Amino acid sequence: MAIQLYDSLERKLKPLAPSHADGVIRFYNCGPTVYAPAHIGNFRTFVINDVLRRLLELEFGAGKVKHVRNLTDVDDRTISQAQREKHPLGEITKKWTAKFHADCDALNCLRPHVEPTATGHIPEQVSMIECLMEKGNAYRAADGSVYFKIDSFPGYGALSRIKERELKVTNTVADADHKDSVSDFALWKAYKPEEDGDVKWPGTAGASEGRPGWHIECSAMIKKHLGETIDLHTGGVDLLFPHHENEIAQSQCCNGTTFARHWYHSEHLLVEGTTMSKSKGNYYTLSDLVEKGYSPMAVRYALLMGHPRKQLNFMLDSLHAAESALANLRAYRASLAPVTTAHDAFAPVFAALEDDLNTPGALGALFTIINRKEGPADAAAFDRVMFALGLDLNQAAPPKAETPKEITALAEKRWAAKQAKDFAAADALRKELSAAGWSMLDRKDGYSLEPLKK
Ligand SMILES: [Zn+2]
Repeated sequence: MAIQLYDSLERKLKPLAPSHADGVIRFYNCGPTVYAPAHIGNFRTFVINDVLRRLLELEFGAGKVKHVRNLTDVDDRTISQAQREKHPLGEITKKWTAKFHADCDALNCLRPHVEPTATGHIPEQVSMIECLMEKGNAYRAADGSVYFKIDSFPGYGALSRIKERELKVTNTVADADHKDSVSDFALWKAYKPEEDGDVKWPGTAGASEGRPGWHIECSAMIKKHLGETIDLHTGGVDLLFPHHENEIAQSQCCNGTTFARHWYHSEHLLVEGTTMSKSKGNYYTLSDLVEKGYSPMAVRYALLMGHPRKQLNFMLDSLHAAESALANLRAYRASLAPVTTAHDAFAPVFAALEDDLNTPGALGALFTIINRKEGPADAAAFDRVMFALGLDLNQAAPPKAETPKEITALAEKRWAAKQAKDFAAADALRKELSAAGWSMLDRKDGYSLEPLKK
């Protein structure tokens, strides 16, 4: 048994193994920015990383994995949210950190072993910036900010394969005047009273008072909590450039050694076939889905239904499928005798997970085994599978919402009108349904009804 994971840097599947003498896998996952509730696209990444963490624990031993995930509690977004709400930054970030933790708990994600905050690591970030200035990889700009000099690191772009020309286009920003090159990125941002309010820290040797740039926090916290070289660095694909590229540049230039031996990126989430946005009405937080009557465990299950390295099209319909899959798993678990056998009937499930974290393959293999209904039933082996997938079958299934008879009748009428291609009538009936507080989702072979969010 060995876990093979695609490495985004080397562009190939590679076995995952510890590199330090103590045998501990050093695992870092970029965490949330705590200024608003995380949406289900964010949670896709955190759930995938949770399965990865669980698999690593099963493979190498629970004490042989050190998982660190940060909280970004100072950046442009957190500061402007604090100003909008007219509350101190620390109050805002504390509130949203608590919400993030509650959502993670509901989704049965294990807490990381260390959860460092950016504001709790200012001296570590300052000392890394000083290190980069001493080595000639960073410079102070006229306004007192400090920038990383991309030209000083020949390896820049290896992860994203971004070419220099594209880089310059990507990084055209307002404060370009202060930089030597438009592609250079901020390590430290000089204090701007009109934007930053009271958020500032004393400057470094070369910089004015201000605050750290976003990228430096991960490099500094990784160095402190995991060391100069880590075994696995993960995040959503949206972080690959520029965030992870910049982390590599900062860490490798300061530490003079390999930063991360393995990079794993999970893909984007689409909702109902399109990118999530508030204006399209397909933007969901976990609370939105719970309000609609779905269980967090069904959300977790649905997030595992697609391969982590492929875009996942999240549909409310898949939550129905997830609820019934969970009901089947509960019934199966109840039928198992508490015996342990030498033969692990669920080996194919683990084989799928070990093969690039193929979660849909694992779920498929699981149901093939369950439906075959053969061999000695082994509760311990089954529980191990549930642990790996993080499916907590004791979490209560949601009560079934009753659909009123008149709503079902309207829906039936609308479906018939649509089948008869009377689109005007179908449209009118849809409006009637939504005025009554229900939305109708059409599939090829039928429809489902959802109470509209209040
Ligand atoms: Zn990061």
